[in-house]
Amino acid sequence: MRKKIIAGNWKMNTDKKDSKNLVSEIVKNSEEKNHTYIILSPPYIYLQQAITDCMHRKDILVASQNCSSFDNGAYTGEVSAKMLKSIGVDYVIIGHSERRQYFKESNDILNDKILQALSNNLKVIFCCGEDINQREKNEFFDVINDQLSSTIFKLDSKKLSNIIVAYEPIWAIGTGKTASPEQAQEMHFYIRSLFKKNFGDNVGDNISILYGGSCKASNAKTIFSQSDIDGGLIGGASLKSADFISIINSI
Ligand code: PEP
Repeated sequence: MRKKIIAGNWKMNTDKKDSKNLVSEIVKNSEEKNHTYIILSPPYIYLQQAITDCMHRKDILVASQNCSSFDNGAYTGEVSAKMLKSIGVDYVIIGHSERRQYFKESNDILNDKILQALSNNLKVIFCCGEDINQREKNEFFDVINDQLSSTIFKLDSKKLSNIIVAYEPIWAIGTGKTASPEQAQEMHFYIRSLFKKNFGDNVGDNISILYGGSCKASNAKTIFSQSDIDGGLIGGASLKSADFISIINSI
């Protein structure tokens, strides 16, 4: 059975106290369910505290929002995958559109980061998504195929069991404009069919594909009820514990 996942990406938000409170509210107000995981992704400096506070819950995992593409050495300000693993991080988010856009992360850099994460036994939430021009020009299937072909489709099928895909149309991220459940399902079905074509039915049937982009308490249930949508990567709505818990309860 495919894993269901609700992941919260806090981006560069919260301070030490907010971060701790958010984790404790989520722990307190959510219940362990079979095959369902909650992934919390606070900023780097709050990861250790979040890991400690979730330690007793096997269904709550912690993700870093980034990792270095380098192994170790003279790279001021960078945090390596090995360091993240050493404090107990489970996942790394790679390929988020904000990192591609603001930090100019190319496919080559993303591939280096994926290899760093996987070789240090971290799992990856890999993001893909088209921009509004590509959507309006009906290029979205080709764009997603290209983004996946130049990155995670280069991995061997064994490594794919450590990858979650997040489909995040850029025009829906932080805009309040959500993809309709039909638009999201159509793309998730397409992504799954690409995995089946390239790696076989078993890989395609087992990979979790999350939707991200203005997902909130009011629309989560309809989005998650689509057959190829296995949960969500949530930005803004993951910063309020009541909203995030309501999204968790929609799965
Ligand atoms: C995101 O940035 O991954 C995201 C989905 O953001 P939001 O939910 O705020 O659109």
